[in-house]
Amino acid sequence: MNNLTHKTMSPEVYQLRRRVIALIYEAQKLIPSLPRIMVRITENDPKILALATYNKNYIEISERAITCSDLDLRTIVYHELVHTVFGIGHIEQCPLMRPVHQPLSKEEAQRLFLYYAQKSIPQKKRIIRSVSLGSIR
Ligand SMILES: [Zn+2]
Repeated sequence: MNNLTHKTMSPEVYQLRRRVIALIYEAQKLIPSLPRIMVRITENDPKILALATYNKNYIEISERAITCSDLDLRTIVYHELVHTVFGIGHIEQCPLMRPVHQPLSKEEAQRLFLYYAQKSIPQKKRIIRSVSLGSIR
């Protein structure tokens, strides 16, 4: 299975994590019942931008996903939240849940996030990891 190396906590890593947590707060405003999410910041990987574990409220985000201006961090964070909170896998036809990252507008990312929140029903705990593949254009 794919694995990313966690960065050791430092003031710099803490700042990176704050950017992710700010987007999780934004999602919590949309869905007040959103559970607490554990966030780990990871070293960069040539192919993987971020990881989520289904139904575990746990996401891992690479430094590249946070710092690269060609990537939209909101889209990445919302995608991983849909995996980890709602237990939904990849959907090729969905701009948010397709396996390869594609930046979305804030409005579109929020609309799709709300769509999955409303349609999600509690699922059996599955401990499967999912990867988001992405390349910088
Ligand atoms: Zn994914």
